[in-house]
Amino acid sequence: MAPAAAAFLEKAPLERYVAPQKPSLVGMTRAELSDALGRVGVAEGQRKMRVQQLWHWIYFRGFTSFEAMTSVSKGLRALLAEHYTLDRPEVVAEQVSVDGTRKWLMRLPGDPDSKLPHEIETVYIPDTERGTLCVSSQVGCTLNCSFCHTGTQRLVRNLTAGEIVGQVLAARDRLGDWPGGTRPTDGVVPTGDRCVTNIVMMGMGEPLYNFEAVRDALLIVSDGDGIGISKRRITLSTSGVVPMIERAGAEIGCMLAISLHAVRDELRNELVPLNRKYPIKELLQACRNYPGASNAKRITFEYVMLKGVNDSIEEAKALVRLLKGIPAKINLIPFNPWPGSHYECSDWEQIEKFSQVVFDAGYASPVRTPRGRDILAACGQLKSASEKLSVRERMALRAMAMTDE
Ligand code: SAH
Ligand code: SF4
Repeated sequence: MAPAAAAFLEKAPLERYVAPQKPSLVGMTRAELSDALGRVGVAEGQRKMRVQQLWHWIYFRGFTSFEAMTSVSKGLRALLAEHYTLDRPEVVAEQVSVDGTRKWLMRLPGDPDSKLPHEIETVYIPDTERGTLCVSSQVGCTLNCSFCHTGTQRLVRNLTAGEIVGQVLAARDRLGDWPGGTRPTDGVVPTGDRCVTNIVMMGMGEPLYNFEAVRDALLIVSDGDGIGISKRRITLSTSGVVPMIERAGAEIGCMLAISLHAVRDELRNELVPLNRKYPIKELLQACRNYPGASNAKRITFEYVMLKGVNDSIEEAKALVRLLKGIPAKINLIPFNPWPGSHYECSDWEQIEKFSQVVFDAGYASPVRTPRGRDILAACGQLKSASEKLSVRERMALRAMAMTDE
């Protein structure tokens, strides 16, 4: 390994997070809500009951103000409004694709010293019976995967749990996805009683580099008294932060997806530079040890199809050999090009040949249909879209409806 390799692995330093003067209760765990109530003088004996009430209004009903929380006394409502908000990230742009895919650009409080806006993307991919929300875990990403647009962004900071949960709330606000809500009339939403049925941590950022916030957020999202999305319908995608994989299994317990993209360390070092720190063998060992992995709860392996780089039949064969013995699903993702990227998406014929090898090895429907082509739904690309991409550049998209549930 070259001595400079470590420097190439990650960007530093992280951009500063400056909390808003009036904190939002969104993203607070039960314990944090209890403390927040304590700070405005609610007696200890009352807090548990009050937390239950707030939890219901915030996470089950999706209320954005304290005023209408009828089970909370008037005095307490006023006190809460004086000290706290229920703010979610501010949606500054929305794009709706003809197939119903929606992308939101969301603005977060920035660092007053840097003056650069902190922006993230959240993407909604509806299907007939489910709707998948692709959520970001960081502004930008400290890692530098060579095919990923997010990796090129200079500005990086971790999102707070509130900003992660806030994306789910903001999406449900926009979709009228609360009890008694009104669905949008444009685009498509699933037929069931919920618009957002699945969550994938596949937006901007590396979730396992922001572990505590992601964990707290996902535990809130899966809590049955609130948003109530089952952990089987939540998928966390990682580029392979090996030491955190076991913790993710033990402390979050959601589905796991691994951005594999190559079967040899030499190539993976180039595509996913974090591989220099945690090579394929160690990564796969962590997958074998992932708590709860079974045939009923398979690990998804993502493989981006890069023309002439990783898409040979030999590599397809090596891929199925490599994953032998791991309860796995394989997702072949058509590469989504961006201005300045050095790669091209594999030809469709080659993707089909590659996919046939994977299929013959017993993996079902390995290619995901590109969605939201017209609005560049690949996570990390809305900003480039607003920077005016040419039509030619709007090519095959990575797919994001990853879960089968
Ligand atoms: N940082 C995490 C999650 C966010 S990226 C991770 O890397 O897994 C989500 C997925 O999109 C990853 O599999 C990533 O490799 C893939 N991806 C990133 N840029 C892409 C592009 N231009 N085309 C296709 N897939 C891409
Ligand atoms: Fe970061 Fe994932 Fe993009 Fe790599 S693929 S730069 S880990 S967001």
